[in-house]
Amino acid sequence: MIHNIRQYQVPLQKYMAMMDLQERNERLFYKLLVDHVEELLPVVYTPTVGEACQKYGSIFMHPQGLYISLKEKGRILEVLRNWPEKNIQVIVVTDGERILGLGDLGCQGMGIPVGKLSLYTALGGVRPSSCLPITIDVGTNNEKLLNDELYIGLKHKRVTGQEYAELLEEFMTAAKKNYGEKLLIQFEDFANHNAFALLERYRSTHLVFNDDIQGTASVVLAGLVAALNLVGGNLFDHRFLFLGAGEAGTGIAELIALEISKRTNAPLDEVRKNIWLVDSKGLIVKSRKESLQHFKKPWAHEHEPVKELLDAVNQIKPTVLIGTSGQGKTFTREVVEAMASNNEKPIILALSNPTSQSECTAEEAYTWTQGRAIFASGSPFAPVEYDGKVFVPGQANNAYIFPGFGLGLIMSGTIRVHDDLLLAASEALASQVTQEDYNRGLIFPPFTNIRKISAHIAAKVASKAYELGLATRLPQPKDLVLYAESCMYTPTYRNYR
Ligand code: NAP
Ligand code: MN
Repeated sequence: MIHNIRQYQVPLQKYMAMMDLQERNERLFYKLLVDHVEELLPVVYTPTVGEACQKYGSIFMHPQGLYISLKEKGRILEVLRNWPEKNIQVIVVTDGERILGLGDLGCQGMGIPVGKLSLYTALGGVRPSSCLPITIDVGTNNEKLLNDELYIGLKHKRVTGQEYAELLEEFMTAAKKNYGEKLLIQFEDFANHNAFALLERYRSTHLVFNDDIQGTASVVLAGLVAALNLVGGNLFDHRFLFLGAGEAGTGIAELIALEISKRTNAPLDEVRKNIWLVDSKGLIVKSRKESLQHFKKPWAHEHEPVKELLDAVNQIKPTVLIGTSGQGKTFTREVVEAMASNNEKPIILALSNPTSQSECTAEEAYTWTQGRAIFASGSPFAPVEYDGKVFVPGQANNAYIFPGFGLGLIMSGTIRVHDDLLLAASEALASQVTQEDYNRGLIFPPFTNIRKISAHIAAKVASKAYELGLATRLPQPKDLVLYAESCMYTPTYRNYR
């Protein structure tokens, strides 16, 4: 079967062949994905899934997932009950407003919950039948889609404010009512003005997790903790500068601050002062005239206004530069060279997806720093040869964390997500990086072992959940790693030879 997929040269064709297989023979689809995870992850998920979402109408083969539109208002529970599977453990839900770094794709965003859930199964071993992808359709502000005759969603501008909040409230209530307290709802690719509010609104009443904010934070923190093995020192010795102060940027910043504050007993406010963020208007500072969105306020420090990233790098002198802007080519040669002249081993993370939006390429990061950068990116880059040495860039892929994280919650019957569970997941991931990986400059482990990694993350997360009294599956299993492995769905075939 893998030869069948490999014969396609164009990634989007591989994607279509995989989606077709998922519909035709689910077990084989997962078997393939598990056995060739490094090769197929970029096909069923970022970057290819981004292109698939953009071209959703023209490559449409068969419906996937469940759409809930404004028209279903008042009947959402009924709609959920129409889904053929009754035992749902994870919902991944989007409203399509900020798909990867590609913006508003409306209903075409369905590729994202579908893709994320296939990773829940392939990498985290969550049973495919207990996964439910949902896209909420409140319209789209994408003019191109509104004028596209093949567009499948509501053809009007996005509904906002109270009408939006009411629809989501009905959805959240119906989901919990239908599937119970232990249902995990993962918010995915909501625009940041809704994402933060939804998480805040439901974190104390539902088992909710926002992968863009919390999952990203956890995976990047793991990479940074691992990077300390290459650059030395502690997290609190470092100074961080972000380009992009949205879900990813502020989410990562907050988790770094939390980790440092826990380790040093320093107050969070004190720790935050070493972490700086730049948004589309420049460095976030106290003196900024325009009002700041509330999630940026903790990061407004005393400093004169700085407009350009390069000036911010020169004035703040960060040891770690993190790109979460969704804007490609923003780590220019001057910016990267400034990082290299201020640091022996600059840590540079270009996290924006898909590849076209990456702040810089792996090759640029290595050549512009004469091979000194510790580099990882959001989308995969091939190894780079520079000055006779091969550099293997790491990928800060959320897929390292969320499948194992979700498995940990599910297998322990955890009912709420606590920030300490995210820290536990980061630690578990960082501990899976081997000396051999470090020797190759890697700050994330290879994906080949991902199911083992997921089991370790699940065990650490569950263990912390038991400690915090959030887990309801009692008694607590003795060996949580073994237990995690025993809970995992595995697509097996009988061997006839
Ligand atoms: P978001 O909430 O929309 O935030 C984007 C931020 O970037 C905003 O603060 C925005 O500024 C800022 N920005 C936009 N253009 C800019 C420019 N030219 N210069 C400086 N700042 C600029 O989006 P997000 O969810 O954080 O995602 C951002 C990117 O991170 C996406 O490409 C996504 O794919 C990527 N990401 C990667 C990973 C990963 O690697 N594992 C995980 C999650 C997300 P304003 O606030 O002023 O508008
Ligand atoms: Mn996402």
